[in-house]
Amino acid sequence: MNGKTVLVIPCSGMGKVHGLIGREATYMAVEDLAPDRADTICLAMLVKGEPAALTTVRKHTCITLDGCPKACARKNVEMAGGEVAKAIRIVDAFRNHRGAQPGTATTLAEDGWVIAREIAENVVEEINRICKGMEDMQ
Ligand code: SF4
Repeated sequence: MNGKTVLVIPCSGMGKVHGLIGREATYMAVEDLAPDRADTICLAMLVKGEPAALTTVRKHTCITLDGCPKACARKNVEMAGGEVAKAIRIVDAFRNHRGAQPGTATTLAEDGWVIAREIAENVVEEINRICKGMEDMQ
């Protein structure tokens, strides 16, 4: 993590386009839009109880992205003792995109990329808010 402040963790939903949108939005946020402030880890490592993943989650403020109401990312971060500053539900992003054709569980179509980009920008807003709050406390 090298001093990065925020951990963005998508669920691992493999069978639905919502899971893919969450993962792509995460990569956009941590690799393209806020690489100096945020990183991600694999949820499976957390679910397995891998010690390094548990420590990382406990040491950072987390944003979770979930593909369905089961909220696997949020619940597993909370069970690991992590702090979820913002829990994003991919389904909520669809409210502004009625009739969208986002693609499939394995390939996003143009609408899917638009939605993923919108979610990534929301994630970055949250990252900036968290980082600013921490700076203000110092
Ligand atoms: S939140 Fe839903 S889509 Fe994501 S991993 Fe859990 S069951 Fe799958």
